[in-house]
Amino acid sequence: MVIQRKLRCSFCLKPEDEVAKLVSGPGSLICDGCVQLAAEIIASDQPSNGSKSPDLPAWSTMPDEQLLARLPLLAETADRVEDSLAGWVAEARRRGSSWARIGAAMGVTRQSAWTRFASTE
Ligand SMILES: [Zn+2]
Repeated sequence: MVIQRKLRCSFCLKPEDEVAKLVSGPGSLICDGCVQLAAEIIASDQPSNGSKSPDLPAWSTMPDEQLLARLPLLAETADRVEDSLAGWVAEARRRGSSWARIGAAMGVTRQSAWTRFASTE
């Protein structure tokens, strides 16, 4: 069974139908609101602290139910990044890169790289 997930911003976790636009990067997405907030932070003298986002209250003060509700959304983001990474590794393999070279690039052993990605070939 294929589960169709909504695309969502990797930063504020809003789904695609609650934002004007989503821009994609490698395994991640950012919404127009987060781009605007980031531009404001860059333009100001504020430190680049993620807690400045009004949509991302600090997890340490978040009520349990809200914290728990975010877990599957964050897991979706992690899955999307993992899928993207697997695609990049598959492209490296298609080009003839060895598992040792891929492992070295990722800072892991050949065996670790193979264990993690060989099943996606
Ligand atoms: Zn966002």
